[in-house]
Amino acid sequence: MMYDVVVVGAGPTGSTAARYAAKYGAKVLMIEEHSSIGTPVECTGLLSTRAVAECDIEPDDDFVLNSVRGAFVHSPNGTCLPIDGRKTKAYVVSRKIFDRTLVSMAVDTGAKLILKGRVIGLQEKDGIQVLSVIHMGRHITIKSRVVIGADGVKSNIARYAGLGRVDRVLSGVQIEAPYRSKDTDFVELFIGSNAPGFFAWTVPVSEDISRIGLAVEPGNEQNAIDYLKGIISLNPQISSRNSRSMLDLVVGGIPIGPLERTYSDGVLIAGDAAGQVKPTSGGGIYTGATCAKIAGEVAAKAARDGDVSGERLSSYEKRWKAEIGRELGIGMKIHDLFGGLSDDEMNDLISSMNNPAILEMITRYGDMDHPSILIKKLLNPMNSRHFIGVFRAFAKAVL
Ligand SMILES: Cc1cc2nc3c(=O)[nH]c(=O)nc-3n(C[C@H](O)[C@H](O)[C@H](O)COP(=O)(O)OP(=O)(O)OC[C@H]3O[C@@H](n4cnc5c(N)ncnc54)[C@H](O)[C@@H]3O)c2cc1C
Repeated sequence: MMYDVVVVGAGPTGSTAARYAAKYGAKVLMIEEHSSIGTPVECTGLLSTRAVAECDIEPDDDFVLNSVRGAFVHSPNGTCLPIDGRKTKAYVVSRKIFDRTLVSMAVDTGAKLILKGRVIGLQEKDGIQVLSVIHMGRHITIKSRVVIGADGVKSNIARYAGLGRVDRVLSGVQIEAPYRSKDTDFVELFIGSNAPGFFAWTVPVSEDISRIGLAVEPGNEQNAIDYLKGIISLNPQISSRNSRSMLDLVVGGIPIGPLERTYSDGVLIAGDAAGQVKPTSGGGIYTGATCAKIAGEVAAKAARDGDVSGERLSSYEKRWKAEIGRELGIGMKIHDLFGGLSDDEMNDLISSMNNPAILEMITRYGDMDHPSILIKKLLNPMNSRHFIGVFRAFAKAVL
């Protein structure tokens, strides 16, 4: 079994990379370890309108469960900052159906798919990548000119290729539960020491059901599940509207900070496997799709030209960094700065932002995928007079 491009992992990144490689004429195989696409779900399924467009699909009732246009941001002392984007900013999706749609598109473009195939080894022999795979309990060998590792946060392909693993991984946990939403057009975010280093969220699926979760930096006193139990029972906003039961439990890692190198001879790494995730929100679909398209194209063209050297494949890294590298870098600085604020500093920040001029600016320039646009506007001395104290430290850290 010899292919031009083998993609390991049929999540959104893998299926998009496979589709693009097939589109550029390669003979492509996707290998997925699970027997079913889109499960288990490790995601809130909040996708910006741009993220859905980046995957080349129309928002469809098949996978869109709800649309949201803004957020209520709750500070530790209970102050609520209402941010209204005034038009649909994001969709709440069924990841299962979304992932299946993307895989179907890849297959329709010509990529093949193996389910229940777990890649357990990768070696290079005479310029060809040889994958050891356990498929339905049998050991098989698959050969490819290029391998794209889109195998998620615990990527083994990156490790086999000597590219290491993303070492900074947030712990995420979420339930889907009966919850009387304040307004189904808005997500709610809770910042502060109840979700240290990141934040907690409620994302409305319908009037009566929400996804309630949080992510935390590793190395805290409690684990993520304990923090989630704490916020569900102690935060009055949540506890008064949640019935304490759950329909679904999601636990997963969110890798932040990209791998130092995302290519080697015959191998490219993309998506969560490469740490291509927004450090401000933990979202990885938009960034993964952006990089997957480049990876698929670069891999197909390199295989066609018979040059799959690391030097040739390095154009992948140059191109994805040109697209999202700066945003990920600024996002990491924002993540670290906000993660380091005390509850008092967060209270000050939220109350200083709670004025019409600032809220109007957030409405106009807020962008889930490019937070740096808003940050630049807020740091403009003409605009930041309302909260110059807090943002002096912010500007020092970010710029
Ligand atoms: C709690 C939580 C909430 C999140 N919420 C959001 C959100 O609202 N919006 C958003 O944009 N992002 C969110 N994310 C992040 C998002 O889920 C990921 O960024 C996204 O799934 C990454 O896609 P991927 O294709 O790179 O990796 P994955 O979706 O992880 O897919 C990797 C695939 O590779 C397969 N695989 C792994 N190893 C092997 C192997 N050896 N052989 C064969 N197959 C293999 C896996 O089975 C899996 O199907 C969230 C993450 C968490 C943990």
